[in-house]
Amino acid sequence: MTKIVGLTGGIGSGKTTVAEMFKSFGVPVYNADEEAKILMQNSETIKHELIDLLGESCYTDGQLNRSYIASQVFADQRLLERINAIVHPKVAAHFEEWYSNQNAPYVIKEVAILFETKSQHLFDFIITVTAPIETRIQRVMDRDQKTKKEVMSVINNQLPDLEKINQSNFVIISNKLAEMKVNSLAIHNEIINKLKNY
Ligand code: ATP
Repeated sequence: MTKIVGLTGGIGSGKTTVAEMFKSFGVPVYNADEEAKILMQNSETIKHELIDLLGESCYTDGQLNRSYIASQVFADQRLLERINAIVHPKVAAHFEEWYSNQNAPYVIKEVAILFETKSQHLFDFIITVTAPIETRIQRVMDRDQKTKKEVMSVINNQLPDLEKINQSNFVIISNKLAEMKVNSLAIHNEIINKLKNY
């Protein structure tokens, strides 16, 4: 049976970059964070529940108003848990459907808040991507035109890297891309070997 490998790491750590490397080795990748965004845009059930929670401003002309939602969460961090409670079960169901159509030795599920949602038990192996906080802040500021304060508020809602690393089977340090690719390939080969003995 196809195994599930969790790929996690804090904001800006380089998860998606690593996921692309695994894709290039032929591993099917499901990006839970990306699918959550798509479902928030397209699922009528989620749409209604978010409007009940946060008001009509969640959507502008039918488009998810991410900056409004971010500003609400910025003002009241408890809202994040309630938004997650609406969105996560739908993403989990969507993943199950996708997974049931896979037949590779293993798939990668990329999830930013894997440990934060205590989802470790759902995975056969877990890979954590890590980078220094200053690097992550700069990357996200460059990528998303966010302020340092905004990035820090997300980081403060996530577990420290060390706690993630301590609970992971593999760690990828996000430094030079070429080195990351070599390390990713070594981990891929190790997983394939481990699965032979399963
Ligand atoms: P998020 O959780 O915010 O989605 P992420 O962990 O998936 O982030 P990426 O999107 O892979 O991280 O990387 C964040 C940014 O940093 C991207 O713009 C990416 O191109 C860049 N980046 C990632 N890894 C490296 C690297 N090793 N060297 C230089 N830039 C990198």
